[in-house]
Amino acid sequence: MTYLKAGLLINHPDASPISDAVVEIKGERIGRVGAADEIRIPPDADVIDQSSRTVMAALVDPHTHITINNAYGIPLSEHFEIPYTTAVLRGADNLRQDLETGVTTMRACGDRIGIEGQFRDAIERGELVAPRIQACVRALRPSHGTAPFIAFPADGPEELKRKIGENINDGADWTKLFVTNVRDGETYEDYLRGDLTDVAAYSKVEIETAIKFSQDRGVPVCAHAIGGDAMRWAMEAGIESVEHANLLTEQDVDLFVKSGAYLSDPNLQLFFDADTGFESFESWAWHWWRERVGVARELTAKWLPEAVRAGVKVCLATDSTHATLWRDAKCFVGLGLPESEALKAVTVNGAEMLGLADQVGDVVRGKLADLIAVDGNPLEEITSLRDVRMVMKEGTIVHREAA
Ligand SMILES: [Zn+2]
Repeated sequence: MTYLKAGLLINHPDASPISDAVVEIKGERIGRVGAADEIRIPPDADVIDQSSRTVMAALVDPHTHITINNAYGIPLSEHFEIPYTTAVLRGADNLRQDLETGVTTMRACGDRIGIEGQFRDAIERGELVAPRIQACVRALRPSHGTAPFIAFPADGPEELKRKIGENINDGADWTKLFVTNVRDGETYEDYLRGDLTDVAAYSKVEIETAIKFSQDRGVPVCAHAIGGDAMRWAMEAGIESVEHANLLTEQDVDLFVKSGAYLSDPNLQLFFDADTGFESFESWAWHWWRERVGVARELTAKWLPEAVRAGVKVCLATDSTHATLWRDAKCFVGLGLPESEALKAVTVNGAEMLGLADQVGDVVRGKLADLIAVDGNPLEEITSLRDVRMVMKEGTIVHREAA
């Protein structure tokens, strides 16, 4: 048995934090949790002393692309022109950065064929120390759809069923569809011209068929959906996870509430963080693109907070950046939302969405000992999430900085 001493413990973002707390670690799981005067530490016990820090659940980042990283400063498409081995090495390094910044659970939402499952399985076998991964295996789009480099074509209900079936046979944890955005050409500019729109890529019948086929086989569905009809069709069909939703409207907020879909990865740092967001990319020079980003930014700033207040569960994610989930949390609070909601959006909400609520997301006896220690108190100053000093995954310290 190991005892973790915490200066402050946030066992759940909605609970009152406990000062001077102790968390028992039994193997890979959490034992008793409470104030230091309630849990006696035996004199010869192993103690992890984080009594100058705040301890909380490790973070969940449910929308990533393992081998892509905006920090390389190349357009998305070029990530798929580098040699396979280089991509694998970059993926391992990206996941190391994610882990060291407090993320122990991720969902991979599109990459080269098969690479997500190979990472997931290598991590499960203990060959790579990295966050646990849920994999989409092959993201699917129509032939005329967006993001051709990370999504594979499937047209019409029958081909969709066949491709989804193949993915499930190949071990997909999720079905990922690109239901909005089409493209008209092969260049990066063509891709961007089709991006951030509410144009439906799949028809209502295709969306309904794909969601039902996957769910009937026990595999939940997530969809790249910026807004408009296709996003609504997906929610009406019972989709679990809507990705981005940056052209959100009042009507959409109601539909999120009614359908219970999670709003995942609103890409807040791209819109609201000048250091790593759209403004820092070369494409910002294009007038039409700046205008398009402006529209999505305004709708997100207006309706995302309304959605949270209406009870929609939002999961923050880093998408094509790594190690920067704190920036999304900072932007979320910047929209006028409370720090406690931001913490839920990077812990419990993602855990629930990924079906792991009984394993991770908060600090409760019996769950996996996936914990982080940060300087400061993120319930008062959200940027404390940037200062992750210790990361524990399944009871083992995987990253630690000296006090
Ligand atoms: Zn993505």
